[in-house]
Amino acid sequence: MPSTLFLESPVPFHIYFTCPHCQAVRQVPEQYVGQSGSCNTCGGAITIDANTAPPLPRVATDSQPKSWYRERLAYFEYCRDHYEEAQRAFAQTTDDAHWKQRIQAAARCQERSEQVAFWERLVAEGIPWSVAFEYLVHYYVKEHDYERAFYFCTVYFTSDRWKNPQCIGSSKMLLKTMRKLDKKLFEE
Ligand SMILES: [Zn+2]
Repeated sequence: MPSTLFLESPVPFHIYFTCPHCQAVRQVPEQYVGQSGSCNTCGGAITIDANTAPPLPRVATDSQPKSWYRERLAYFEYCRDHYEEAQRAFAQTTDDAHWKQRIQAAARCQERSEQVAFWERLVAEGIPWSVAFEYLVHYYVKEHDYERAFYFCTVYFTSDRWKNPQCIGSSKMLLKTMRKLDKKLFEE
């Protein structure tokens, strides 16, 4: 098995376009940037703008060795036993009010596909909380899109957000899922 699974079939990258007329959020493949057309939801004239939202982060979605998983599990145990120290060590630089607002907007999406697109957009914007990742990983596992589920696990564990002692429960769950996906994608 190759160690980099996605060299030949990368997870397609999308930008997240918000219709200026009806505010519907749509996932658009990168190559459509600059094109004009009409909004699928309201029919209004739109031009896909690359500056609307950043693309999803590009990360190497490699299989991780057992030691990598063990290190993270050890950190969770440390957090459990030394919560306050871990809390102090974790730099809190997030604008909670901003993200709360964004999460509420995501929850207001009516359609499942719209909601998925919105959560992905929050990941692209760099949401520091685990909630978007939990939603997306759960969703893609259910859809049997294990590569994309693994991708979102990787993004989560690539930044420092998994170290947030307040998110340890979710981080543990995401790590467990990632390990299962890792085995499924690379060992089977
Ligand atoms: Zn529209």
